[in-house]
Amino acid sequence: MAFIKEDSINKVKQRIGLVDIISDYVHLKQRGNDFKGLCPFHDEKTPSFSVNENKSVYKCFGCGVSGTSVFNFVMQQEKLTYPESIEFLAKRAGIELEYDKTFNSELKNLTSEILEIHKIASDLFMDNIKKNDSAKNYLFQRGFDDNVLTKFQIGLSINSYDQLLKVIQNKKKFSSKSMLNSGLFINASRGYIDKFRNRIMFPIHNHNGEIVAFTGRTRDSNNKAKYINSPETRIFKKGNLFYGLWSTNQSILREKYVVIVEGQTDFLKLFQKGMTNIIATSGTAFTDNQAKLVYRKTNKAYILYDGDLAGMAAATKAGYMLMKYNVDTKIVEIPKSSDGKAMDPDEWSSRDSIERIRSKIINSLDVLDFHFKYYDSMNMNDENNIKDSKIGITKFINECLNQIKEINDPVYQELQINRLSELTNVTNDSILRLFRSIENKSSSSKDSQNLEPELKSKLNNKLDDDVIKLCFTKKKEIRLFISENLEKSWFQNNNNANIYESIFIHLSSEQYLDSDSAISLIKNKNEKKHLIDLIFEMDEKNLSLKMAKECISRMKKRFYSQKIELMRASLKVSSDNDDTVKIINKINTLQKQINGIK
Ligand SMILES: [Zn+2]
Repeated sequence: MAFIKEDSINKVKQRIGLVDIISDYVHLKQRGNDFKGLCPFHDEKTPSFSVNENKSVYKCFGCGVSGTSVFNFVMQQEKLTYPESIEFLAKRAGIELEYDKTFNSELKNLTSEILEIHKIASDLFMDNIKKNDSAKNYLFQRGFDDNVLTKFQIGLSINSYDQLLKVIQNKKKFSSKSMLNSGLFINASRGYIDKFRNRIMFPIHNHNGEIVAFTGRTRDSNNKAKYINSPETRIFKKGNLFYGLWSTNQSILREKYVVIVEGQTDFLKLFQKGMTNIIATSGTAFTDNQAKLVYRKTNKAYILYDGDLAGMAAATKAGYMLMKYNVDTKIVEIPKSSDGKAMDPDEWSSRDSIERIRSKIINSLDVLDFHFKYYDSMNMNDENNIKDSKIGITKFINECLNQIKEINDPVYQELQINRLSELTNVTNDSILRLFRSIENKSSSSKDSQNLEPELKSKLNNKLDDDVIKLCFTKKKEIRLFISENLEKSWFQNNNNANIYESIFIHLSSEQYLDSDSAISLIKNKNEKKHLIDLIFEMDEKNLSLKMAKECISRMKKRFYSQKIELMRASLKVSSDNDDTVKIINKINTLQKQINGIK
């Protein structure tokens, strides 16, 4: 995490305009107040992408992508995080960024010390292997070439308890806290000792290319611990990163799909053969964070795990995890070896040409199809297989639906349900019925289901929308009138009500509210998107005090009318006479209030 000073961020903002940066990617033409061009986020022939410099917003009316700042745009276009987008733009504008050193300085020092220790360790390990022919030959025999060994900085820890320890101690500057936290030393009874001894060292880089951990592989076939790994540290969280991504990011963006393998060896072998849009998990279950990370890079993934049953089961799980985040995912079927055994990608890559492997990858199976095809082999101990038992089919459908219900995108979800019906020969209706009952079991998804149609109908509420647009006028009298006369409860639409609440205190200020800072006040994603739409549609010359008065009086009338309706409904169910009289009186007062509204 970079702590960039606010001043620096503002400098970048002032230097680079929205039209300026977008013109790097899109040929823009001015049309009235807006600039228009072909959308960089979807394929199209007629321009539906609009940019408005004054309001600092952009929006595609074709695919719906929108945003409010130069940083937003670069984050979406270059698939960067927020701090990365600032650095990207600063570089383009030639601005030297200043970082806040006082903020969290102790933690930051610890982090940078641990990173430095890893760098020193890696240099030492690479120096070791240069001088050790038997270690080098071992790697050559296993099919690695010099280029890939150098690029991924593969080295050797020698058979010593203190080689690295002495090098680090001689630098004299590292605290014992950072040494222990680096995970490279063990605090043994006789003091610190090196954790990795007599092993081939594969460094693991974070996405910036800094070394954050190591995997050590023994060359001794009698050693039971074939691999040992760095523990998780403050700089290394297994479930948050992919091996190799630092070097393959560009290639993934270029190819628009990613191949995912399970281990470093598979990664290195395929990379060496020319498959560069590839990443590896570090032999752990696929996490939500990893799936989100993939989605930020591309929406197409091919899972290439070991061909044995364990690999197939892990691939299926990873596949569903990626589908949850709307990544279109396929699973590769690795062919059997000539003696009929399952192969891993490493073995496969030494047998077949990269062209063959690529064509096999492109023709791999959708997750659901793969799951169906291999369900019986993956559940060998279960007598209820799907080929010839109704119980087996039902179990399979249940398993799938439990995964499908996690998918965020309703369209993608429906497609999967249709496919499930095709695969199993069970009607769509029956599967849908089962799906609803599964969905209803988890109460959280039930809530969101009930809310959604309600939200949708409310989104069409033009009256509410108009009032929010009015809040962004440059005319102070209008803003003041709204802030003094409109109540939050009068909004019909929750998005608008919450937006109004967030910007309320700014209505009475001298300075009109600029769209960029307004949008930064809104945290909720739907509200944000809605506000961007409104700002885009709004046109200052259509905004008047008369319109504000009219809107507000209509909202007030609507609010009281709805109250009356509710009371009339309660009259029908109430049998108590006193109650009835009270309610009728209240209705009359409310009706008078409505009549009094101008
Ligand atoms: Zn678009």
